[in-house]
Amino acid sequence: MVQSYAPLVLPPNVTREAFNKFLSACQDAVGSENIDVITSTAQIDDGDYMKPNYTHDPHHVLKQDFFLASAVIAPRNVADVQVIVKAANETHVPLWPISIGRNSGYGGAAPRVSGSVVLNMGKNMNKILEVNVEGAYCLVEPGVTFHDLHKYLVEHNLRDKLWLDVPDLGGGSILGNTLERGVGYTPYGDHFMMHSGIELVLPSGELIRTGMGAMPNPKSKEGTRPEDQPWNESAQLFNYGFGPYIDGIFTQSNLGIATKMGMWLMPNPGGYQSYLITIPREEDLKQAVDIIRPLRLGMILQNVPTIRHILLDAAVLNHKSHYTSDINRPLNDEELDKIAKDLNLGRWNFYGALYGPEPIRNAMFEVVKQSFSAIPGAKFYFPEDRKEENSILHTRHKTMQGIPTYDELRWVSWLPNGSHLFFSPIAPVNGAEATKQFSITKKRCLEADLDFLGTFTIGMREMHHIVCIVFDRKNEEQKKKVHWLIKTLIDDCAKEGWGEYRTHLAVMDQIMDTYSFNNNVFRRFNETIKDAVDPNGIIAPGKSGVWPKRFDREQWKL
Ligand code: ADP
Repeated sequence: MVQSYAPLVLPPNVTREAFNKFLSACQDAVGSENIDVITSTAQIDDGDYMKPNYTHDPHHVLKQDFFLASAVIAPRNVADVQVIVKAANETHVPLWPISIGRNSGYGGAAPRVSGSVVLNMGKNMNKILEVNVEGAYCLVEPGVTFHDLHKYLVEHNLRDKLWLDVPDLGGGSILGNTLERGVGYTPYGDHFMMHSGIELVLPSGELIRTGMGAMPNPKSKEGTRPEDQPWNESAQLFNYGFGPYIDGIFTQSNLGIATKMGMWLMPNPGGYQSYLITIPREEDLKQAVDIIRPLRLGMILQNVPTIRHILLDAAVLNHKSHYTSDINRPLNDEELDKIAKDLNLGRWNFYGALYGPEPIRNAMFEVVKQSFSAIPGAKFYFPEDRKEENSILHTRHKTMQGIPTYDELRWVSWLPNGSHLFFSPIAPVNGAEATKQFSITKKRCLEADLDFLGTFTIGMREMHHIVCIVFDRKNEEQKKKVHWLIKTLIDDCAKEGWGEYRTHLAVMDQIMDTYSFNNNVFRRFNETIKDAVDPNGIIAPGKSGVWPKRFDREQWKL
């Protein structure tokens, strides 16, 4: 029997005895070195990106401890996860699985229901299990970061064969980011599209492999535990397998705890060139987006390019105080024009890249250049044309070829005690719609006395419009405004038919309510699955606004 712990917050409707019974079972499996019980406020430390915490959201828009873990447990292997799941079923302790737990701007490692036990899947389960050059894929455990895999490719002299796709920051996990349907910026930027095969512990404790992974490998030796069996040889080559395609229901959801995932890697294209197009006026957004649509659909734009607002770039380069003596009010048009001029950037800046042998790149760039030249004053740059010490193009040059960086962290420090929240609606690749969405979001940011910082990341037929709401987490007044801002933006956008692709814990319920076609059947269907698969509601209750029966949604919803 372990000592009896009194966490700062117990899981709902779980007694201290039951909680300690749960911990005792876990401790027998994982060892006390892999369990942290949160018993003191001293453990609630915001830390920073490089030193993440697992207790709460370091970018807290509500009270710092509003979403608080009771304990953090790091299983060492699949068998440990199964012991934990069994104990959770017996005691009704909810689990909140994370891989790396940075999840920056969307809630960090914090659980939706305070008192949940955060399962730190990445601490011990962090192996790159396979990099297959011929098939151009890898198989990873939850703790493998983009940075780790890149380092592996470099150290094994594989970069000339394979690239990975990375998001803006290199410290997140490949598995966690993909399960959240995150994006990167090479031609393989849609991470979920590029995954192949997931292994998960189900709420029942059983281990499942999806896609072709559901078929055993005939070379498996009899008596080998399921998790140690080799995968079917096509599991990382064909992600659909046979029958209902269930991978999707394990994304942004609460139906399983992922322990392995396959991911496609991009063959080195044999040549690469990044570029920047500066677009002078804010109103040029409309024309730019209409130019982009046919180019992206026709794959002349081969990757996930971005159109970034001037202030996002300005914030990577300097704190707000560098540009104004009054950081408490949003910058005005004249100030934005001056910043753009001083930085030799446009009010919008388009970062793209070309892939393939030189003649192909040159031909593609001719089309791109000709198309964008229709915008009066648009200017074109390659990295060698930007000699300034800090250049966003030099960072994007790395990102768009799958080299992870940490430079984009700097825009979070636009304000003192810089924290951020993402508001991420989907927009069609259509100039008028994008302009309308930008205008609505910008207007609301200004009403909240905040600057608009944002970017459009351009998918095949839509754009993820990422509004980066930066705030001072020690400024309570500002936090209230930020909370008002995101709630208002969700409503404003829903009225236009725009929904978010991903969100922070604090507004998951509100966003799920906007996906309300035909009397909320989407949410109800998900809750039917949830109750069938997880009758005790032990995995991530409330994730994405999906609540198990055991939690009264009307009482829990925010
Ligand atoms: P990142 O690696 O980008 O920091 P996280 O590890 O915080 O991301 O994961 C983001 C979200 O993805 C989590 O909040 C959780 O909902 C989901 N997730 C991450 N890892 C797992 C996992 N191993 N099993 C199930 N869900 C997971």
